Amino acid sequence: MALTGIQIYKLLPQTNCKECGFPTCLAFAMKLAAKQVELSACPYVSEESKKQLAESSAPPIRLVTLKGVDVEAKAGNEICLYRHEKTFYHKPGLFIRVRASDPDLAKKVAAADAYKVNYVGIELTIDGFAVVADSDLATAIQTIRSISKRPLILIGDPAALQAGLAACRGETPLLYAADASNADPMAELAKSHPAALAVKAESLEALADLTQRIQAKGVQDMVLDLDGNTLGEWLVRSTQVRRLALKNFRPLGYPVLAFPCDAKDEAIAAAQAIAKYAGFIVLNEFKPELLYPLLVLRENIYTDPQKPIQVQPGLYEINQPKPDSPVLVTTNFSITYFSVANEVEGSGLPAWLVVTDAEGMSVLTAWAAGKFDAERIAKAVKTFNVASKVTRKRLVIPGHVAVLSGELEAELPDWEIRVGPREAVDLPAFMKQALN
Ligand code: SF4
Repeated sequence: MALTGIQIYKLLPQTNCKECGFPTCLAFAMKLAAKQVELSACPYVSEESKKQLAESSAPPIRLVTLKGVDVEAKAGNEICLYRHEKTFYHKPGLFIRVRASDPDLAKKVAAADAYKVNYVGIELTIDGFAVVADSDLATAIQTIRSISKRPLILIGDPAALQAGLAACRGETPLLYAADASNADPMAELAKSHPAALAVKAESLEALADLTQRIQAKGVQDMVLDLDGNTLGEWLVRSTQVRRLALKNFRPLGYPVLAFPCDAKDEAIAAAQAIAKYAGFIVLNEFKPELLYPLLVLRENIYTDPQKPIQVQPGLYEINQPKPDSPVLVTTNFSITYFSVANEVEGSGLPAWLVVTDAEGMSVLTAWAAGKFDAERIAKAVKTFNVASKVTRKRLVIPGHVAVLSGELEAELPDWEIRVGPREAVDLPAFMKQALN
């Protein structure tokens, strides 16, 4: 059972030396009980206390890492129910289901493996393949390995999986699945390879019993198949598992595996699985039109709400600007930057783009927070030495911060300050009509 803050405090040195970054051992103990710090932050805990604290400091959801060839997919180590309480750490891996018997296996794997899409400067891809052993699994794995290095989920009975495991030595695949009827041979396989093991049961009670039985056989890395028949049933089970795990109920403290590929509406089931706690998700086939929104949704849910996605402040060149091209200004919030950069790039018009350090906030938010003002803009223009690149000193500020133009004229007296449109989409028309 988890220890309370006071119980943890009694096991700490109680010297209040502050080396952990907290003013007192009690403050550190409270944070440790809330799983917001690592025990290793205190260098003075005795070995005896470490043992007693091990359970309390262990993450409530075990971190399970699937390994391909130099490529990994991780799930687990989550510490909260709602993203805004802290953050979600490991994005659920998206796996494409393929069949060993498919004559087009190589073609399908190649297409999915090559898929890359850029979203606000982040490269998004699939995470691996879920291989159904409906034919020679070892040959199928060899075919996949000739194309892709991504981790694998292997789906089949113990005999088929055993044959396939020989083809992925040195990797850590996920074996699917141990249930009440085959738990012993599956646990044996997972332990001897070693591999992670998916565990499946009809109810959460049965699932908790089974994970304990398998753990007693020496398998630590497990993943839960919740087996809900409907969207609602799956959601209830997934939420219960997360709640129980966060209360340190160890038998269900594992990542969850979801199969939207078997749902009536795959897109909705997959979106629900991303939002509500799945660690690994199996999709029916490679469909870019489904994959892209899921990847973007995943990015949005797994972005740390306290750390917005940012681009590097600096001077960016768009469409090979010349010395008389206009200089635009924006903030370093990724979505703001890409909205502006994409609109200007798409128009074919050359421009310089000064990206100021606004701590990753959008224009209006940054202005309201005092992170995007005339002083900061002027500082960026000087720091990035923009004046040396242009012959015509024209600076276009976003329409939302038109109020800054007067102050900016005072900060940059030899620049012409122009107020641009409020929305990035209107920039090309503004540049054509107002900047000639
Ligand atoms: S580093 Fe350890 S001993 Fe020092 S204040 Fe933190 S918890 Fe206490």
